[in-house]
Amino acid sequence: DVFDQPAVTLITPTAPVTTPTHGGRAKCLQRLVRLSLPVPRTIALSFDTVHGIAGGKMPDIAAICAQFASGSLLCVRPSSEDPDWGGPGAILNIGMNDAAYVELSDRIGAEAAAGLYTRFVQSYAVHVARLDPDVFDDIDFIGQESLSEALRAYEDEAEEPFPQDRETQLAEVLRYMARAWEGTTARLLRQAKGAPVDAGLGLVVQEMALGLGQGECGSGVLQLVDSDTGLPQITGRYLSQSQGREALESGAAALFLERDPRGPSLEELAPKAFETLKTQAALMRERLREEMQIEFTIENDKVHILDGVRVARSPRAALRIAVRLAEDGVISRREAVMRIDPGALPELLHRQVAPEADRDVIGRGVAASPGAATGRIVFSSADAQASAARREPCILVRRETSPEDIRGMHAAVAVLTERGGITSHAAVIGRGLGLPCVVGAARMKFHLRDRQLISESGRIFRDGDTITIDGTTGTVLAGAPAMIEAALDDAFQTFMSWADAERDIAIRANADTPADAQTARNFMAEGIGLCRTEHMFFEADRLTPMREMIFADTPEDRQSALALILPMQRADFTELFRIMEGLPVCIRLFDPPLHEFLPTDRAGLRDLAEALDLPVSDVTRRVDSMGEYNPMLGMRGVRLGIAVPEIYDMQARAIFEATLDASAAGDPVVPEIMLPLVSAKREVELVRTRIDAVAAEVRNERGADFDYRLGVMVETPRACLRADEIAQHAHFLSFGTNDLTQMTYGLSRDDAGRFMSDYVQQGVFPEDPFHRLDADGVGELLALGVARGRQGHAAITLSICGEHGGDPESIAFCRGVGMDYVSCSPFRVPVARLAAAHLAI
Ligand code: PEP
Ligand code: MG
Repeated sequence: DVFDQPAVTLITPTAPVTTPTHGGRAKCLQRLVRLSLPVPRTIALSFDTVHGIAGGKMPDIAAICAQFASGSLLCVRPSSEDPDWGGPGAILNIGMNDAAYVELSDRIGAEAAAGLYTRFVQSYAVHVARLDPDVFDDIDFIGQESLSEALRAYEDEAEEPFPQDRETQLAEVLRYMARAWEGTTARLLRQAKGAPVDAGLGLVVQEMALGLGQGECGSGVLQLVDSDTGLPQITGRYLSQSQGREALESGAAALFLERDPRGPSLEELAPKAFETLKTQAALMRERLREEMQIEFTIENDKVHILDGVRVARSPRAALRIAVRLAEDGVISRREAVMRIDPGALPELLHRQVAPEADRDVIGRGVAASPGAATGRIVFSSADAQASAARREPCILVRRETSPEDIRGMHAAVAVLTERGGITSHAAVIGRGLGLPCVVGAARMKFHLRDRQLISESGRIFRDGDTITIDGTTGTVLAGAPAMIEAALDDAFQTFMSWADAERDIAIRANADTPADAQTARNFMAEGIGLCRTEHMFFEADRLTPMREMIFADTPEDRQSALALILPMQRADFTELFRIMEGLPVCIRLFDPPLHEFLPTDRAGLRDLAEALDLPVSDVTRRVDSMGEYNPMLGMRGVRLGIAVPEIYDMQARAIFEATLDASAAGDPVVPEIMLPLVSAKREVELVRTRIDAVAAEVRNERGADFDYRLGVMVETPRACLRADEIAQHAHFLSFGTNDLTQMTYGLSRDDAGRFMSDYVQQGVFPEDPFHRLDADGVGELLALGVARGRQGHAAITLSICGEHGGDPESIAFCRGVGMDYVSCSPFRVPVARLAAAHLAI
């Protein structure tokens, strides 16, 4: 008996139906049957059976048909393992023939019966018999005449009469659907959605509940939550005298809400059925442990449940749904945490272009910092500041940004650059500020001098024109599309606290300014893992003393210029310590090459000459002499700290004085001081001696004691290789994977954007290594550095502070090699918290 085999199974509460053998729809229908919901009689065909049908092995069709009342109509629907993989559309009303037409005319009226029969003939002709669809074009599907026309057209084209036998029809439909699944196009489409090559198709054969008749009849879908917001709201679509999803999606079906103010809804048309559906949907939610959409048919107030599918949902709805299911005790908190993909969080943390908005895309680049913002184009930081002063949102458009643009970036609502990749200046600062940013939009033309931005298709945009930067998708849009706001509500906070309860690796933030630090605190970072102090020197009031310091001829002159900066740095650090309330703050000493602080154009050189009271020629010569051929590998980081030690002395003093000030006013502070670009232990020894001396001086002067921790940023390959001896001089090592990636590949992080997409497309790199840690190469150096670091100093704290610190896969790697914490941009902190929770569950 075929029904004893899993191959062809009548769906009963105990039948051997599983998702991997019969598909998700069959399994879900069985769950509904187990809940005693009014599901019409259904038979499930397994993947193997359907595969056999495609190859010409038809199961016993007579036995299948014998399971259904004789003369009843049937429908067949696909049941793949994952509903997203698609599949052939449902075929309804199998079994329709001349005799059924006569019988149905009595029940539902001749016109409705003729319409149903005509539609079946057409759908069978086009899909199953593969006749020319044009033949049916002129038939209007109304009345008996259309029916005769359709039957005639079928007979002419197929050269045989329309098959009258339900078994024949069913066999042909099954064959058609089985073969459609195995066709090349269908296979490629589903593989693109992640389906395996050998993904199977199951089919379900179900007795039809008609949805047509004299009383209130129809079909619809209903769910208990809003798909966009995730908030409780009974909503759905219903169409009287209709069958199947296709009819509902045609646009004729009325959208209904509970207590819909806009007019008659299902509630009024069929109040009893509406009440039943609400109860059934609630039961499904509880027992299937998921928000489900019910597909139903009503026949004179009697409800039939044809199917249940997971409610489609936006990322913000997904989070609210998971939280409510856990709060209602339907699922555990852990399960709620696992149901949200960390990659979906950025959409909640920023404003976004509304999914339904019209998108007039004028350019594409790297999605460097998520969120969307609309503003007028400006081509310089000065214009951005002027625009901000007028309270006009602006988009800063630059070839690339440099530290001089920071003020412009602060003033802008979004940034667009022609050059750069995921760790370029604009990208790093953009993420830090939570500013939407698209970089490397090299197919657009940036005519800065003419103040024109030319779209990929040649449209001209001038300064003052309104555009939108979508940093989530990496697109530039013309005009101002509709937006949706960030969703940092109670549900979000609750959800994140559940994630934190599971996590076993700490998360800090990279924060340079009080605003960053505040964002980091708001997102519950457990400290600052990297404060890049050089960003503090680009403030207008510091640039001049900084330049004086650079031009000083003697250590004394340098000291006196730095003495002007010292109180400002002290105030910066005091503020950071205050905001972080005793949480660790890791301050990296000055890193960039000095020439970044010098002007590059004639006007700037003239201004500088004036400020320093020197001839322009002198200034120009000095600036030229400081140029380096390869500045990112030149005199920067600890090298500068050793060559011009007064800078680090000043910074150490500012940190220690701020430590005492902040500790006096609030929680005790133990500052962490970090040295960039170290490659040899002697560098650490030299700097440490000086910093210890500064600490002793401050203790003496203030008559107060404090502790501090000195650490090394491991971001050169040599530092990884020599981590054991370096670790002996350090309290902590923090891996700077931006520079480490740059140096391991010999690939400039500022220029990689030019060819990165080609490289990824051609499979040279599986992904941008500045975005996702290269586990094979850079990862081996990290693992080596971690192991050797611990060898040299067992109790050392180990962490990562490169941009990879916010990427879930990279976090998995860091946790795997035994790091103590990861540090990432403030806006990535929630992503990192959730990703770390997933790893621990
Ligand atoms: C790094 O190199 O990984 C790092 C965090 O430092 P920066 O990006 O400032 O060079
Ligand atoms: Mg670095």
